[in-house]
Amino acid sequence: MPAGPLDNTPASPGYDTDVLIAGSGPAGGSMALLLATYGVRVKMITKYGQLADTPRAHITNQRTVEVFRDLGIEHLLQREATPWELMSNTTYCTSLAGQELGRVPSWGTNPRRHADYLLASPCTMVDAPQTIVEPILVSQAQARGAKVRFDTEYLGHEQDADGVTTTARDRLTGTEHTVRSRYVVGADGARSKVAEDLGLPFEGPGAVAGALSIVFEADLSRFVAHRPSVLYWMLQPGADEHGVGLGVLRMIKPWTEWMLIWGYDPAAGPPDFTDAFIRDLAVKLVGTDDFEMRVSSRAPWTINHHFATSISKGRVFCAGDAIHRHPPNNGLGSNTSIQDSYNLAWKLAHVIKGLAGPSLLDSYDAERAPVARQVVERANKSIADTGRILEALGLSDTSDPGKLEERLAVLRAPGQDGEKTREAMREAIAYKSYEFNAHGVEHNHRYASGAVDPDGTPMPAFTRDPDLYAQPTTWPGAKLPHAWVTRDGVRVSTLDLGGKGAFTLFTGIGGQVWAQAAAAVSAQLGLDLPVVFIGPGQAYEDPYGTWAGLREIADDGAILVRPDLYVAYRVTSAPASADEATTQLGRALRAVLGR
Ligand SMILES: Cc1cc2nc3c(=O)[nH]c(=O)nc-3n(C[C@H](O)[C@H](O)[C@H](O)COP(=O)(O)OP(=O)(O)OC[C@H]3O[C@@H](n4cnc5c(N)ncnc54)[C@H](O)[C@@H]3O)c2cc1C
Repeated sequence: MPAGPLDNTPASPGYDTDVLIAGSGPAGGSMALLLATYGVRVKMITKYGQLADTPRAHITNQRTVEVFRDLGIEHLLQREATPWELMSNTTYCTSLAGQELGRVPSWGTNPRRHADYLLASPCTMVDAPQTIVEPILVSQAQARGAKVRFDTEYLGHEQDADGVTTTARDRLTGTEHTVRSRYVVGADGARSKVAEDLGLPFEGPGAVAGALSIVFEADLSRFVAHRPSVLYWMLQPGADEHGVGLGVLRMIKPWTEWMLIWGYDPAAGPPDFTDAFIRDLAVKLVGTDDFEMRVSSRAPWTINHHFATSISKGRVFCAGDAIHRHPPNNGLGSNTSIQDSYNLAWKLAHVIKGLAGPSLLDSYDAERAPVARQVVERANKSIADTGRILEALGLSDTSDPGKLEERLAVLRAPGQDGEKTREAMREAIAYKSYEFNAHGVEHNHRYASGAVDPDGTPMPAFTRDPDLYAQPTTWPGAKLPHAWVTRDGVRVSTLDLGGKGAFTLFTGIGGQVWAQAAAAVSAQLGLDLPVVFIGPGQAYEDPYGTWAGLREIADDGAILVRPDLYVAYRVTSAPASADEATTQLGRALRAVLGR
């Protein structure tokens, strides 16, 4: 995207900033960084005096790492995160020292699944708690020009035809002030005041369970280093009540820092978090008292089943937990929040710079509200699926410890019952791939909105389970497929050739008319429109033939890719003349931009 008219200029008369963001979590932090990168004046206010002080969301999927890559900061994340190979198991047991029930090879590390992940993205998955992710996002946002104000609480807003006036309180002095902006983004988390003020419609039962999170340091290497996992799930009496399905020990730092998760009844409220209570719980889940621990934080939180069916109103947009509230199962929390921002930021930038009509912003609701519903339903279903593990033992709950012990013993016993129970347990644990290998949930979104210009073809049917398997396509509304191509022999991802705040046109041999069309349309609309040629003898070569196998167009066809790397429009082959190509491309881009 070219430097817009507003870059490096003082605030336009009547505005303090272009976009005001409430909240500095994964949604707000990434929104601030993306907007600052795109050259938009942005101010982020956040309620507390610091970023996340507890690890919270941690599974960082390939889609999120792709956003970091597009922003040029993938290396900062990789430097601090726990690498993919240490995420390779999810272990079910009675305690770390106790009976192991089985493992799920996780997050695409199973050799059977690994290729699927490598084929879908140039990026790996990593484990990066919010204590790592937020400082990277926010410091980079500041370095690129975003203004950040801590200890500042969003109180309310009023919008009119030209902008939004937000009232905020400085929590250090108690004074209130107003901020006038063109747009507001409410990224203020699960108790979003912005969403409440907008009166966004929500569906779902709301709070469904309670969980305690206790972060502690303890060297537990001897129990875990031989079966590296991000999550160790404990089947014990009471572990299935409330909470996230079972008791959990979650790795924060291998293998010396942990988060313990245990359920509580939200109607009764959280129990008293005494040191003795915490120690007892930790000893129960580790399975021995032969370890030292130092507790660094303890907090109750609520597990929700709640999503907004409409996520914006006028000039105010909500993102992240403000619009989708769900359990951590499937690791979709901060990932989805960052994707919300990736979807909205380029649209705001284009509208603010006068490169798109305001109707482009309507596509945020059309594209991301269905995702909010999908992730909330998926994560809650994963809690329910954990019930299969109990069912495999022939139990409906763990209320009778004697019975539980008896059935666990059967898993190790000879005879028909043992054999049947073992088979059922293997199936129940393998089924958890829907939680730990749900690659399709992460990659298979197909947007339908004004920001996509359909080509009249039906959406390609999924050939494998769409929750488990990513299926690339260039069908308008799908994410640009990743393929390794080469420049001067050096490999580069197709995803690296687009993004960076701009639209990109992909074509190949015989597609010269598209280069002429792109130059003409770029001049007409006043935006950059780089053209990427892929093929033998072109700027980028396709020596593996992967791109040719994925692109679903002829050599001389064209694929118009949005700044968020989704396909906006495609044409199977080149028209007879550059004029015709210009007409086609200009019409499509105008339609997408709402101009
Ligand atoms: C204890 C806990 C454990 C979790 N564990 C996991 C996990 O393991 N995996 C997972 O995927 N998800 C987990 N989650 C959920 C995950 O943290 C969220 O999905 C993710 O943080 C959402 O990002 P967000 O930016 O939308 O909201 P948040 O990260 O909640 O950020 C909200 C921001 O808004 C600010 N704010 C709030 N109110 C105001 C206001 N009025 N004015 C200004 N600023 C305001 C806050 O200070 C904060 O900066 C957990 C959540 C909690 C609470």
